[in-house]
Amino acid sequence: MTSSKRVVETVPQISISSVKEYVSHRHPIIQLNLTDGRGRQTLCLVKTTRTECYFGGSRPWFKCILCDKRAGVLYLNEEGSHLFCRGCSNLRYRSQAVSGSNRMLMRYFDADERAETVFDRPQRVKIWHKDKLTRRFKRYLKYREKAEKLSRFFV
Ligand SMILES: [Zn+2]
Repeated sequence: MTSSKRVVETVPQISISSVKEYVSHRHPIIQLNLTDGRGRQTLCLVKTTRTECYFGGSRPWFKCILCDKRAGVLYLNEEGSHLFCRGCSNLRYRSQAVSGSNRMLMRYFDADERAETVFDRPQRVKIWHKDKLTRRFKRYLKYREKAEKLSRFFV
């Protein structure tokens, strides 16, 4: 559809090739410090992965935090707080909430809000503790997963 294509072209985005030196198997989650046109900075967490190449070596990818699919490019959401894959970026869930009276829809937002609350001050959040994901980050992933499952009813 032409409308979704226009969105993709105008949304701030980041390519894996620009951060590939930070992608490792050991720490698949990397922090990106995003700066917008007004100099406002946002700390953003992204999952990454690597796939082995047939002739040796490996290729880095982002992993969308919503759908867990591999992506070469991530797009900034409308709030400027998270990066999602192209498919997930087309979800206009914020504006849908205004008119939605559906119960499932409300639960979806609820899960989404809680996920954001866990990370309301990302600079303070510890993701790793002794090589394990912290409980707080696991909770964030759980809420994200819940929001994602519920979101399938609206696409
Ligand atoms: Zn996605």
